[in-house]
Amino acid sequence: MELPRKILIGEGVISRLGSFIMDINDKVKKVSLISGSVVRSRSGEVCSNILKECRIANTWHIAPSATIDAVIKLQHEIEVNSPDFLIGIGGGRSVDLAKMISFRLKLPFISVPTSASHDGISSPFVSIRGRDKPYSLKAHAPIGVLADTEIISKAPERLNASGCGDLIGKLTAVKDWELARDENDEYFGTYAANLAHLSSRIITDMPAVSVGKEKDIRTVVEALISAGVASCIAGSSRPCSGSEHLFSHALEYVSSINCGLHGERVGIGTILMSKLHGLNTESIIRALSNAGAPTTAREIKVNEREVIEALTIAQSLRPDRYTILSKIRMDGDIAKSLARSVNVI
Ligand SMILES: [Zn+2]
Repeated sequence: MELPRKILIGEGVISRLGSFIMDINDKVKKVSLISGSVVRSRSGEVCSNILKECRIANTWHIAPSATIDAVIKLQHEIEVNSPDFLIGIGGGRSVDLAKMISFRLKLPFISVPTSASHDGISSPFVSIRGRDKPYSLKAHAPIGVLADTEIISKAPERLNASGCGDLIGKLTAVKDWELARDENDEYFGTYAANLAHLSSRIITDMPAVSVGKEKDIRTVVEALISAGVASCIAGSSRPCSGSEHLFSHALEYVSSINCGLHGERVGIGTILMSKLHGLNTESIIRALSNAGAPTTAREIKVNEREVIEALTIAQSLRPDRYTILSKIRMDGDIAKSLARSVNVI
């Protein structure tokens, strides 16, 4: 079991980045940071100065896109610098890239999310859009997570609402895991499952999540980190990723590059899969709406054909992951009536 060693969440904690690193390892002399260009221009100078104050040299790299080719190119650049630590600072892509590259280079990695868009900020898993189809890879968990709620609460609301979609997905992910235990004789970790389920309850139990409010976003960030930790405990993505994630991957596969954010697709996938699981779909739709997350395909610019196709191929993208979709012969007609019954199309 590999867990983050240090987690720091709070207002303005980015100013403690240097001491945070030194607390984990006081011998660190050099770090490499990976971020997008917007984060770099907003926070690059501040972070560099904070690190210099702690006598930590730093090199900044701009993350292009989370593809295998991009990972390899960036990896070579970072290897040349031979840093002690890698820091991923950004929404999803930069943290994913830092995680992947640090894993390949056998370096510790620190996750510094600037939005609450998905649970990858603390999990050992990386979403990669490969040469042919999108998939998820196991890398390693961050050694530390530093989440500045002041920065995260100012992220575009859409990004943070997307994190609520990823959280709500744990409802069906855990149901799928229970199904795999009961019908496919799979290992089931009660503690990890409960932790992931609890993370989703944060969204369903809150009257309305205001992702622009620091108090609410702190709760969302804590829930995302807990969900990632649930994956660390389980040693697999099982507690956090089931049929709703298969649907999300399938949508990426059948749609153009613009098919919403990861958590947005997962939220819509959860609506669909909750119906198959016999859960309270209405309360899931309500919770997503309250958080400002989309509940229909139109809102993420996906058409009816793409939803139907994604539903029919979702399970085939990962046949070894037993889910509710393994039990259904999903054809176009069943997919259409399912999506219509919950107003996704
Ligand atoms: Zn996810």
